[in-house]
Amino acid sequence: MEEKTIQIAGSITVDELSKALGLSVTELIGTLFKNGIVATINQRLDFETASIIIDELGIKNVKLERKNTATKTSEGFRHELSEKAVSRPPVVAVMGHVDHGKTTLLDTLLHKKTVEGEAGGITQHISAYQLEHNDRKITFLDTPGHEAFAAIRQHGAMLTDIVVIVVAADDGVKPQTVEAIKFAQSANAKIIVAINKIDREGADIPRTMADLAQHGLQPEEWGGDIVMVPISAKRGDNLEKLLDMILLTADIEELKADVDIPAEGLVIESHMEVGKGSVVNLLVTGGELKTGEFIVAGSAYGKVRTMVDFKGKPKGKATPSTPVTVTGFKELPNFGDRFMEASDEKTARKMALFNAQSQADETASANVTSGDLLRMMNVADNTKTFNVIIKGDVLGSVTSVVDSLKLIDTKGEITLNIVSTGVGDINENDVYMAAGDNTVIYGFNVSVPINISKMAARDGVTIRTYRVIYELLDDAKHEMEDLLDAEIIEEDKGELKVLGVFRTEKTSIIAGGEVLKGDVKPEYLIRVVRDKKFLGEAKVTSVQKEKIDVKELVAGETGGLAIATKSRIDLQIGDRLNFFVREAKKRTL
Ligand code: GDP
Repeated sequence: MEEKTIQIAGSITVDELSKALGLSVTELIGTLFKNGIVATINQRLDFETASIIIDELGIKNVKLERKNTATKTSEGFRHELSEKAVSRPPVVAVMGHVDHGKTTLLDTLLHKKTVEGEAGGITQHISAYQLEHNDRKITFLDTPGHEAFAAIRQHGAMLTDIVVIVVAADDGVKPQTVEAIKFAQSANAKIIVAINKIDREGADIPRTMADLAQHGLQPEEWGGDIVMVPISAKRGDNLEKLLDMILLTADIEELKADVDIPAEGLVIESHMEVGKGSVVNLLVTGGELKTGEFIVAGSAYGKVRTMVDFKGKPKGKATPSTPVTVTGFKELPNFGDRFMEASDEKTARKMALFNAQSQADETASANVTSGDLLRMMNVADNTKTFNVIIKGDVLGSVTSVVDSLKLIDTKGEITLNIVSTGVGDINENDVYMAAGDNTVIYGFNVSVPINISKMAARDGVTIRTYRVIYELLDDAKHEMEDLLDAEIIEEDKGELKVLGVFRTEKTSIIAGGEVLKGDVKPEYLIRVVRDKKFLGEAKVTSVQKEKIDVKELVAGETGGLAIATKSRIDLQIGDRLNFFVREAKKRTL
């Protein structure tokens, strides 16, 4: 059968899908209906819904493909290079498990390698910086919430040439180390391992290397292909060697970019500042960005009014791999949006409008989502909603948190409902929105004014603030876990054959018998079985052997039982009592 591919840019209407599948609209609407969706011909279905429906219809020769719209950042981002491409500095991301020393490494490098006095002036958080080592430049990404791999994976993957994975020598490989390895591999970035904290007492370099080897990173020293540099981020040991290795890796990779093309790159941070308007950090990946040029990022556009480097020094021109901060965007572009130079204002406006349109097509108008579909299908009644409001210091961190939250696998049982998001401190409006709806407010790098926490306490609203995204995600996960129904686990304990029934009352029985297998103890639950048929459930209240209370009877022994029942059970000789215990176990995500 001929294979057919249908491209979907975010969502597709019932009409379009039926045409693409060669089905009648009625047939498609019928199938949707069978799955609990009442759809009209113009209803939009998202990608997942469309694929589930195609599955339902048993259509095998059609492949659905996500079509990238103009604003998508990753696809096709790295161009075929022309012959005129020139070398560019490597772009490096530092990743690793929380507390293994990423921040310390980035800080020490920044202060060691930037001219004294200049670095002292850097007080604000910066999302990327450039160092000079052996007269060459290296760009480090220090995105807000760089712990949130998930967000970087979505937005920054194409930027990163080299991932430095920081592993503490006294702690070894941890979950986020593994995440970092996976990220680097999926982003096609080169990996260099920095074995950190070698100044610590418990540091064990060979063991850490063995640990890494077990996770697929074979140290060069042992004949593998991964460079591992033992360092102390705190004391600064071996950092020069680490930088040497970064440059060496960059040389092998022959990193290049074209400069005679219109400037382009990625938005790595954006926020509003009083008096300046939008302040946007960009990383140039191709071409040369100059002040006065028009740029577009997603649905935002503007003219580069001012441009400074990470130290705040004015820069007239930014070449590939250079991080800069610009003002002039008329509205805030999103973290992760690709930016492009436009020839003039009219073109910029048109491109922004086009992007806005594609974005709208992609998200807002999909009025049946796969979540709806799943809910309508069967998991329906069990799904619970976890309502959150997210506030962050900059747009980048809000996006990171939202993206990462969405990636928590809730096994289809919990719907994450992001009530609102915003930049800035937690305010009255947030509390107002959260009140009465079991909504948790999460703040990342923001504060809670006293009057607001009082108001929240009064209204019973929970506010949680964090400085580390990982901790926020962990807590959110636990809160979602609390919403899950507990798992009931039953464990069989033993079996008894009834040999005598001495007394039967409405809610109690005294009987005796022989334990055939396992054991019986007070508090065990009982399934009463006659001829393999279940008669009822009961509970052992006490166990006796030769008329004396004992803790247990085991297989082979005979004795008496006092049993509690909910309603009368007329036990008979020959009945079987199956003993078990039942435990409600908290489930995890
Ligand atoms: P991050 O969560 O990965 O960014 O970790 P941090 O950079 O915040 O470091 C966590 C803790 O480890 C801090 O208390 C650091 O001072 C400490 N630390 C980081 N690097 C080193 C190191 O090389 N040696 C020692 N002794 N402590 C370190």
